[in-house]
Amino acid sequence: MPTYSFLSLLREGFTGHKGWTPAWRFPDPKPAYDAVIIGGGGHGLATAYYLAKLHGMRNIAVIEKGWIGGGNAGRNTTIIRSNYLEDASAAIYEHALKLWEGLGRELNYNIMMSHRGVMNLAHDEGEARVLKRRTEANRLNGIDTEWLDAKQVKEFCPPINISAGSRFPVLGATLQRRGGVNRHDAVVWGYARAADVMGVDIIQNCEVTGIKVEAGVVTGISTSRGDIRTPKVASVAAGHTSIIANMVGVRLPIQSHPLQAWVSEPVKPLIPCVVMSNAVHAYVSQSDKGELVMGAGIDPHNSYTQRGGLDTIEHSLAALIELFPMFSRLRLLRQWGGIVDTCPDASPIITKTKVKGFYINAGWGTGGWKATPGSGHAFADLVARDEPNAIAAPFSVERFSSGALVAEHGAAAVAH
Ligand SMILES: Cc1cc2nc3c(=O)[nH]c(=O)nc-3n(C[C@H](O)[C@H](O)[C@H](O)COP(=O)(O)OP(=O)(O)OC[C@H]3O[C@@H](n4cnc5c(N)ncnc54)[C@H](O)[C@@H]3O)c2cc1C
Repeated sequence: MPTYSFLSLLREGFTGHKGWTPAWRFPDPKPAYDAVIIGGGGHGLATAYYLAKLHGMRNIAVIEKGWIGGGNAGRNTTIIRSNYLEDASAAIYEHALKLWEGLGRELNYNIMMSHRGVMNLAHDEGEARVLKRRTEANRLNGIDTEWLDAKQVKEFCPPINISAGSRFPVLGATLQRRGGVNRHDAVVWGYARAADVMGVDIIQNCEVTGIKVEAGVVTGISTSRGDIRTPKVASVAAGHTSIIANMVGVRLPIQSHPLQAWVSEPVKPLIPCVVMSNAVHAYVSQSDKGELVMGAGIDPHNSYTQRGGLDTIEHSLAALIELFPMFSRLRLLRQWGGIVDTCPDASPIITKTKVKGFYINAGWGTGGWKATPGSGHAFADLVARDEPNAIAAPFSVERFSSGALVAEHGAAAVAH
């Protein structure tokens, strides 16, 4: 991996930046690999990194139909927390949060991790009871959630409107201080560079168009750049998972929906933390550039268009202006959408399938970014050993027939 001294940085600055080398290779696909990962988002690249690093699987490829990080990885608002209700969820999200805490150092890449705290607001007594219960459940799982009353909420986030006459009165909030945000591109690039150094081929502009199966066993894939032989195919295609699974006749209880976000013009530091409100379907944080990063719940319709409707944004903006009246004077800079893969119990699927050698990691819906390292770590273990570890096991697709759901609609929150 190249390193640059201060002098070489200076020289590049004065000579037109001609000496930079790419951070990862752009290889052509080989005829065969030991495993192929479909999807070059955060989860796919993390899976490749842990497969190479922890399981010694280096003759592997990540196949991405666009560019790495061009899907939800590059579109999400990067809220990270682990304060989910169920033990199984707490285990995987907390596993991820612990990995996030050391990831910049591990990848030798500045992922701009900021543990600025995430607050989830309660606007009525019922919501307050539910959030307090979750606080207790989190503490039993060793997760750092605390309950703040309205005055403490205001102290932690001074611009918030807690007046009793407000349309959305703030009764209190949960706070996870270790929660926060990071930089999505940097995470994708950090994982890509580290996987590439270990020999993983990252193949962009290459769409998987088919999966070859003989006698119930995976033998390879077809792509827009030719066929590849492989005994293991690991799908990490987020909003497009149902299309991939359909290639081998696997049906999943996943629906794909648009999820939108938007940013304001940049302003001076204003919001010191992440604020989320499940009931009003809105959340906000501030980027290092000064933009207010805001988001909503999913658009209700199914779609693959990576765009949503203005009514969803309008609803969330109206709520945010109630909570932060000063936002009414801001102009919006841009808006975008991604396609998220939602499950009926608001929990992910990490699973083997009825087709030997075909594995799925999906269903993270509106909240998978926070899980990226933990998801990649657990999925790599499943793909390498053909058995789920204790963290992945509760998320098998079998739960939809056994009834052992991991119901997280409350903690999965507005969007995340
Ligand atoms: C607007 C928005 C805000 C969000 N905010 C948050 C948040 O604050 N916190 C949080 O935890 N989560 C958030 N999420 C959810 C989070 O982004 C996703 O759960 C997570 O990124 C999904 O994993 P991924 O990064 O691997 O997905 P992706 O980046 O979508 O990766 C999947 C990849 O598969 C590729 N692919 C699909 N089909 C094929 C094919 N046939 N061949 C080859 N490649 C293919 C796609 O091009 C894509 O690059 C948000 C999502 C959106 C859209």
